[in-house]
Amino acid sequence: MTAGTAPSTRWPAIPKDLRGLAVRPNMVDYDASRAAFSWDEARHALAGLPDGGVNIAYEAVDRHAAGERAGHEALRFIRADGTARSLSYAELAEQTGRFAGVLHGLGIGRGERVFSLMGRSPELYVAVLGTLKNASVFCPLFSAFGPEPVRQRLHLGSGRALITTRALYRRKVAQIRDELPELEHVLLIDAEGLPDPGTLDLAELMRDAQPLETVSTRAEEMALLHFTSGTTGTPKGAIHVHDAVTAHHATGFFALDLHPDDVYWCTADPGWVTGTSYGVIAPLTHGVTTIVDEEEMDADRWYRILAEQHVTVWYTAPTALRMLMKAGADHAAGHDLSALRFVASVGEPLNPEVVVWGQEAFGQPVHDNWWQTETGGIMISNYPAMEIRPGSMGRPLPGVEAAIVARDPDGKAVLRNGEAVLVTEPEGVGELALRPGWPSMFRGYLHEDERYRRCFAGGWYLTGDLAKMDADGYFWFVGRGDDVIKSSGHLIGPFEVESSLMEHEAVAEAGVIGVPDPVAGEVVKAFVELRTGWQPSEALKLDIIGFARKRLGPAVAPRLLDFTDALPKTRSGKILRRLLKARELGLPEGDTSTIESPPGRYPGAPA
Ligand code: ATP
Ligand code: MG
Repeated sequence: MTAGTAPSTRWPAIPKDLRGLAVRPNMVDYDASRAAFSWDEARHALAGLPDGGVNIAYEAVDRHAAGERAGHEALRFIRADGTARSLSYAELAEQTGRFAGVLHGLGIGRGERVFSLMGRSPELYVAVLGTLKNASVFCPLFSAFGPEPVRQRLHLGSGRALITTRALYRRKVAQIRDELPELEHVLLIDAEGLPDPGTLDLAELMRDAQPLETVSTRAEEMALLHFTSGTTGTPKGAIHVHDAVTAHHATGFFALDLHPDDVYWCTADPGWVTGTSYGVIAPLTHGVTTIVDEEEMDADRWYRILAEQHVTVWYTAPTALRMLMKAGADHAAGHDLSALRFVASVGEPLNPEVVVWGQEAFGQPVHDNWWQTETGGIMISNYPAMEIRPGSMGRPLPGVEAAIVARDPDGKAVLRNGEAVLVTEPEGVGELALRPGWPSMFRGYLHEDERYRRCFAGGWYLTGDLAKMDADGYFWFVGRGDDVIKSSGHLIGPFEVESSLMEHEAVAEAGVIGVPDPVAGEVVKAFVELRTGWQPSEALKLDIIGFARKRLGPAVAPRLLDFTDALPKTRSGKILRRLLKARELGLPEGDTSTIESPPGRYPGAPA
């Protein structure tokens, strides 16, 4: 495989000094923590059920409710008007026990699937954990999905129960109900004593239910079903088990640096794996207070929440950060963000420009980390006490072995004697791979065994992303396997081009694709969204292209450039390059169930 272009060297490394940190990080020495770590040890950090079983909800809720953190605020929901309502660990234990009792009373049992379709309200969080307490499997959906994506997922996942609102039921579910014979129960959170025909009043059932003790589950028992974001095609249903909680807890400790007194805010919606792994499970296992914003993203609102709620640890997404950057620094001014001690991001490549901008906006760089629905938890990360190299995803978590696997021209892993061949020279591009065995690894794609098997080769799980590793073991994202552009013998990752474009003062965000070219094979085309106050013009187009050529050289810089008001994105805010390409080439758009609509409105929901 041709070598990719070198990692961004324009951005100097950002050193870390322990003395400058207000709170001593959980990990002060990366190599020492890696050497000392084992997953078995990590399991001991959790309680486990008395009979040796493992249940996510027990670790997240029950064990705190039974101890001195019972009265500690577990979840704090911020309503549209900025007022808050809270649930303590004890209250959460009581309500989730009731919810489990409701399911039990309806005859929904072990391994059966419970879906949600609703905004980020307390009922959603109670439903996630209550379902797990009942040994049933939870599958959260984005409330913004249309009827067809809802039907598809409920059908694939054999949903037996759905928790939703009256309005969403009427708009999205009532008309598809006949096509879902397995969907026995629909529970409305806002029925107010008058459920629609064919639905049940959840509040009433909760009042009457007997709280259920957490049912014992085995570590390898299925707990969660998460559909991927659909960035590259039809979403896949990834199966996760209760033992995943070991990874959620350990990664919350190392990568998010959670401490018991933290006020933590994950902006992701549980409809995306981030919003469940790190919006519900990881923080609760650490006994911290988690903020949930019930509204959609808005720059002023977000700064207000960070300041007024005294958020200490913030986990968000590149698209949100780019939107804050686009809105301008004035929005940050006047907000006291002094409580904020750690900012992390996931979901898409994080442009170096944004990492560095964090220092101006939040008084610290943004810490990128990498993972997928399939990995269930953070795999590669930047840490509070480790130097940041802007544009790099960081280094593998303790307990995680990552490598770059060589690919043949067809994109298949190169094997020798049954073992995958690794790219060992620094900066060599290949497929990012992980050694199987971490607890939150997916255990299958629902109904797609063959596809699951194809993800593994030569002793590795192949992620489908291309990356490179530098001489010091930092990983650099190059692009999704499907997005990489081959132009005149060069292998070009869209991320590098997009990041360079973003350094132009007029550019807020960019999506880059390859379009066929008779001479070069493919040439680079960029779609550019301008910052507030800039107008598209031919002169500006040439200026941006010229700017990119200076930075990247003519072989890599975009040859073509279009302005756009809003790049197509998934609901998690990921740029849908495959859609840009399909539209450019007049090809079918493929699966668009996860597309953000209307475009340009980030739904507060990374992925
Ligand atoms: P689908 O698999 O359906 O196409 P998806 O891959 O976008 O969708 P997710 O599992 O939500 O679904 O996203 C994981 C992917 O997001 C990763 O494989 C990677 O391509 C991208 N990603 C996540 N975090 C980062 C990051 N820090 N840097 C670069 N890319 C990232
Ligand atoms: Mg994927």
